[in-house]
Amino acid sequence: MLEMHNVKAALLGLAVGDALGVPVEFSSRSKMKKNPVTGMREHGTWNQPIGTWSDDTSLTVAAMDSITRLKKLDKVDVMKNFVRWLRDNEFTANDDAFDCGNTTGAAIDNFIFGATPETCGMRNESSNGNGSLMRILPAVFYAYEKATTDEEALQIVHEFSALTHAHEVSQMACGIYYLICAQILDGKNLKDAIHNGLKQAEEFYSKQQKFLNATETFSRLFKENFAALPEDAIRSSGYVVATLEAVIWCVLNTDDYKSLLLTAVNLGGDTDTVGAIAGGIGGLAYGLQQIPADWLNVLKRRDYLESLAEKFFLAIN
Ligand SMILES: [Mg+2]
Repeated sequence: MLEMHNVKAALLGLAVGDALGVPVEFSSRSKMKKNPVTGMREHGTWNQPIGTWSDDTSLTVAAMDSITRLKKLDKVDVMKNFVRWLRDNEFTANDDAFDCGNTTGAAIDNFIFGATPETCGMRNESSNGNGSLMRILPAVFYAYEKATTDEEALQIVHEFSALTHAHEVSQMACGIYYLICAQILDGKNLKDAIHNGLKQAEEFYSKQQKFLNATETFSRLFKENFAALPEDAIRSSGYVVATLEAVIWCVLNTDDYKSLLLTAVNLGGDTDTVGAIAGGIGGLAYGLQQIPADWLNVLKRRDYLESLAEKFFLAIN
């Protein structure tokens, strides 16, 4: 069952993970080993104040704002909010929209120039960055509350990914994330939720002609020994498959929110997005009480995020 504290913990968990990763985004793993992140930092890659979150949180918030206002998922309105983010710096930590990915930027441009939400997303194989997975949480909650079957829920999540990332691999990454989150909301502990969610995903997608190639692309995740892979085998790049693998590997190899997030960010690479996605799932599973207070205390616009999470829950519940 979805409760208000779930939405709050997931959104704050995501924003905290994003903000932990922002100062070290693009740092190599060897560089992270020499100077590992142990808490919130300032400056770094984007020269931002401490606790600043980036596009990952902004686009999540932009979607939540739209669903909250309209009490439904209206794709045109969500895309309009994405435009307000990119053009007008709305839904940002410090009045500055930064870190926009190529595929997201191209889709927003397509929408500005008249494409519909069904056609503005990029669908080629090279458009499989992690830009839809990092903002999928509002659609996950919406689908969990509103859909009556897994098929219907996955359809909602796939279409929400496709606003910017329409390739099957990106859609499937979001679908896998949905199935895992749904298991957590159903009351499973995090490790069981991952196990069951991955099993459901493999069963569902391997039967869909449209997703056969994508299922092959994710095959490593479905292997029993995935968690035992050495760190060297885990990339933490912006490719959505590498990002989702990194998040799930970190979840399976840690037992609490703080270790999960520090493990995720210290992999280096696309640190803010790996942190954001791990933080969303970690917040949802471990709860708000596990997010370190000294991280929350410096998070930009924490009150706004908490209040939006509450309003969003009431709007969809
Ligand atoms: Mg970012």
